[in-house]
Amino acid sequence: PEAITVQELSKRMGEKGADLVKTLFKMDMMVTVNQTIDADTAELLVEEFGHIVKRVSEADVEIDTNKDVDPEETLKPRAPVVTIMGHVDHGKTSLLDALRGTDVVAGEAGGITQHIGAYKVTTKDGAEITFLDTPGHEAFTEMRARGANVTDIVILVVAADDGLMPQTIEAINHTKAAGVPMIVAINKIDKDGANPQKIRERLLEHEVIVEAMSGDVQDVEVSALKKLNLDKLLDAIALQAELLELKANPDRAAEGTVVEAKLDKGRGPVATILVNRGTLKVGDVFVVGTESGKVRALIDDKGKQVKTAGPASPVEVLGLSGVPSAGETLSVVENEARAREVASYRQEQATSRRTAIAPANLDTMFSALA
Ligand code: GDP
Ligand code: MG
Repeated sequence: PEAITVQELSKRMGEKGADLVKTLFKMDMMVTVNQTIDADTAELLVEEFGHIVKRVSEADVEIDTNKDVDPEETLKPRAPVVTIMGHVDHGKTSLLDALRGTDVVAGEAGGITQHIGAYKVTTKDGAEITFLDTPGHEAFTEMRARGANVTDIVILVVAADDGLMPQTIEAINHTKAAGVPMIVAINKIDKDGANPQKIRERLLEHEVIVEAMSGDVQDVEVSALKKLNLDKLLDAIALQAELLELKANPDRAAEGTVVEAKLDKGRGPVATILVNRGTLKVGDVFVVGTESGKVRALIDDKGKQVKTAGPASPVEVLGLSGVPSAGETLSVVENEARAREVASYRQEQATSRRTAIAPANLDTMFSALA
């Protein structure tokens, strides 16, 4: 339910907070300026002061991302977004690094690889694939918990010399719950004692039926260390992506998801945004969670300053008012007034939630003291 702090209400009414507290006291309510009152109480209070009540509902302020669905004809193919999951030490980080090394444009840029939480690879066939660089199912579930379903494909890494471990099984369950297609990367095939066939058999027990077992889950034997079969894995991703027919409208106000964010000593608040739809541009005004801002600079995963970032592109954004949380949505809005309106509305909602306690009425206060 709608609620507001006495402080915020006093600001909006242009009255002293202490006067509101006094009036509430007369209405049998003991609250301090920092506490929250519900909308009905607020309305009574406002009328008591002879002001006119204007309630603003969430629908009046919030950005309705479901409302403006992009028409089919505006959609263009976009790169798949891939997350790597698997048990600890099975080679997630090694595989992410090895796949990053396959990028054919990284060399041209001559840049030092920037770890910004996601990177894009262009394969030798010209296909683009975006990898989330925050392996592990914590990141995956945390993002999902915030309603961010950015992953199109999960790569399940299983070490061929170790087999299915607890986090492997967790990853399978999370992936199934999310309804995201999976590709199995059987890693460390260079090692003595590697037994890929055993992995395929064990996967059956968890209803992951790979192609070699007449199922429809692609499996690829790789070695992240020796860089074996990485091209096969990329092909498998490209094939899966084709089946998904991933599309987005690049010609609209951008919407993206925070992959990671931090306060940088020199640059201030910095967030890595994965653009979901639209094109993010330098100069764009936006809201992200309870923060707002204006894009001062965009830096890609190769450390290069860019002017724009389209769907499925990860990009570092500078020019935020504060540090947002991973999984929050960035939305470009018309102007700074609108950005401030949405951000301050969300801040109030967050404050109300933090301070929400039922205002004690005098009777209960006194009975508590007696
Ligand atoms: P993570 O915990 O899943 O991120 O695993 P890491 O990428 O950190 O790898 C764990 C260990 O396995 C490291 O010592 C890697 O060098 C090693 N490793 C990863 N991939 C391979 C591989 O394909 N072959 C071999 N022999 N070792 C590997
Ligand atoms: Mg790791």
